[in-house]
Amino acid sequence: MAKKCIFGPILSRRLGSSLGINLLPYKTCSLNCIYCECGVTTNLTTERKEYIPTQEVIESLKKYAASSQFRSAPPYCITFAGWGEPTLHSALGEIAHFIKKLFPEQKLVLITNGTLFAFYEELSEEVKEMDIIIPSLDAASPQALQAIDQPHPRITLNSYIESLIKLRKHFPGEIWLEIFIVEGINDSERELNFLKEKIALVSPHRVQINALDRNPAREGVKSPPFYKLEEIASFLGGETILPSPRKSKVVV
Ligand code: SF4
Repeated sequence: MAKKCIFGPILSRRLGSSLGINLLPYKTCSLNCIYCECGVTTNLTTERKEYIPTQEVIESLKKYAASSQFRSAPPYCITFAGWGEPTLHSALGEIAHFIKKLFPEQKLVLITNGTLFAFYEELSEEVKEMDIIIPSLDAASPQALQAIDQPHPRITLNSYIESLIKLRKHFPGEIWLEIFIVEGINDSERELNFLKEKIALVSPHRVQINALDRNPAREGVKSPPFYKLEEIASFLGGETILPSPRKSKVVV
């Protein structure tokens, strides 16, 4: 399956108009979340490498910057997202630096599962030019982590939390922690209490409660009703992300 390394701009529920950057072949990630709206992870890995040629990404960005599409309707932000975990790409820092120079008016955003900061010292430096980082944390017990995120064997609950704390400590910009709620797994009182404890350790600037908006990787995965999501958001000190308008095909 082929996907362009840049896509959109799309209308993001959280970020408004957003140009997406995809640095990975389908579907390369350190997690295999059962709710993933891109599908099942086919390459479960924690190995960082140049999955897509860096030069290809740079050339696509230059072409977009010179286009009438950009000049007539520049996006609000440029977002690393796409078909897997962006921090797996070994040239993430170099590409982020290039984007900041080429698009000084746009916010630079990284959507990440946040699992790799504990393993790779260099990552903290590589992400420092982002304006906003949106990491995720769906579970705060080993059982729920396994049930929802099905991580690579190298990733444990402890390494995950350590990774997020490290990111928060070293990153000077905004951190918006996303929590995806799956009915029957992480919506119990027990799991939510665990989550609250871990959120306090990470201390993000914002907590955002997310739920299914498109088809999940695993059939049968459901989100609680919206009123329950609002109660959870209130308990965790966060806010809910509204469902996308029905016309939007892709959301970040
Ligand atoms: S971390 Fe993101 S890309 Fe990876 S499986 Fe989970 S939802 Fe999908």
